[in-house]
Amino acid sequence: MSADVLVIGSGPAALAIASELGQRGLQVHGLSATDPAAPWQNTYGIWVQEVDQLGLQGLLAHRWSQSVSYFGEGGGSGPSSDQPLDHGLDYGLFDKALLQQHWLGICAAAGMLWHRGEAVAISHSARDSVVSTACGQRLSARLVVDASGHQPVFVQRPDGGPVAGQAAYGVVGRFSAPPVAPGQFVLMDYRSDHLDAAERRCAPPTFLYAMDLGGGVFFVEETSLALAPPVPFTALKDRLHRRLAHRGIAVEAVEHEELCLFPMNLPLPNLDQRVVGFGGAASMVHPASGYMVGSLLRRAPGLAAAIAGALGDGSLDGAQVASRAWQALWPLEMRRKHALYRFGLEKLMRYPDAELRQFFGTFFSLPQSQWYGFLTNTLPLGQLIRAMLLLFVHAPWGVRWGLIQQQGRELALLGRLLNP
Ligand SMILES: Cc1cc2nc3c(=O)[nH]c(=O)nc-3n(C[C@H](O)[C@H](O)[C@H](O)COP(=O)(O)OP(=O)(O)OC[C@H]3O[C@@H](n4cnc5c(N)ncnc54)[C@H](O)[C@@H]3O)c2cc1C
Repeated sequence: MSADVLVIGSGPAALAIASELGQRGLQVHGLSATDPAAPWQNTYGIWVQEVDQLGLQGLLAHRWSQSVSYFGEGGGSGPSSDQPLDHGLDYGLFDKALLQQHWLGICAAAGMLWHRGEAVAISHSARDSVVSTACGQRLSARLVVDASGHQPVFVQRPDGGPVAGQAAYGVVGRFSAPPVAPGQFVLMDYRSDHLDAAERRCAPPTFLYAMDLGGGVFFVEETSLALAPPVPFTALKDRLHRRLAHRGIAVEAVEHEELCLFPMNLPLPNLDQRVVGFGGAASMVHPASGYMVGSLLRRAPGLAAAIAGALGDGSLDGAQVASRAWQALWPLEMRRKHALYRFGLEKLMRYPDAELRQFFGTFFSLPQSQWYGFLTNTLPLGQLIRAMLLLFVHAPWGVRWGLIQQQGRELALLGRLLNP
């Protein structure tokens, strides 16, 4: 039986788009290498305002109103200032089982049919596509949406040079003393006084992402925002233990270890291909922050509407349907913003410890609507550029100099702002 849309994968991206397609009356089939109901491994955090605006705050397991970061004195150069910068915005963690059930429930109500198997090949006719699995199943659909993650099975993207990975080593557990203040969420603790001077000057900067989960349990994670090649897990684990030891804290019990690695600066996929991507497969990770789930929630309805509209237009062939979908997912303005974010990340990866802390100190002193809009990719292009110019004006000279100097592929990335 041929479907309207075959969605590949059963991660957050696949479920987000499948549930939106199903709600538009399309016959949706899913193909996943793993059981769609199997528990997800990753922990998903988000600014609460993003879920509040969608009326999905009930899907959170935790919500913190004390959200802070540490960047050194007044955003200045001191590596050890204990003065937190208060973000003044709530941060949350999804109840990942609830989020998954939420989407699976909508899919089931729409009559979605799941197939288990690994997609390995695809062929196209003018009207349909046929996906073959490793076990020899053949599944046909008018359109295939590849949501198989950051290394997609079918979606093609150009080679954009070295891929930077966000890497993190984290522990959920109990500690000899609270690693963060009770009830607190720490977005970025860039204090580096546990490192020696040479490490601070030459080694890649990393930060602590941490939160009080209640009942004496905390999550602490040493994170490298992005680097190519990524910072190894052994180095991050060592950094985490040294950071904690420096503050007289020992890990007493480990409930869960998180090893996190995903690409941050993948180029956009080719927009003229027959298979449409969504999520990691479509380079939707925010290149300057690593967040994606908020984008999935915001952008799935628009993509689903475009697909439903195109499939409903009998005059369009398969390639034209795919083209309409890609244009809806990555319109010109979004592509330009993506180029700007990739350029910004390239700059961040070059800053040594002191300048990086100064950069973030300046960034988070911008008006909240600007830094929040930057991090969530919700600012129109003009406002995004304005926020970046304001940051340049307010930044210390060391940071400005780093922004002015053009190295490596930075100019080419900036050029993509005009011709993405
Ligand atoms: C540890 C970690 C923590 C993260 N934390 C956050 C966070 O806090 N907030 C945030 O917004 N983002 C976060 N991210 C980034 C991003 O949101 C995640 O990587 C997210 O899981 C990507 O979703 P996805 O659905 O695109 O891909 P995935 O979650 O990787 O799902 C891919 C799916 O495709 C299936 N699949 C793969 N290949 C095939 C095939 N050939 N055939 C059939 N099925 C296939 C897999 O079984 C899986 O179901 C994090 C990432 C990681 C790794």
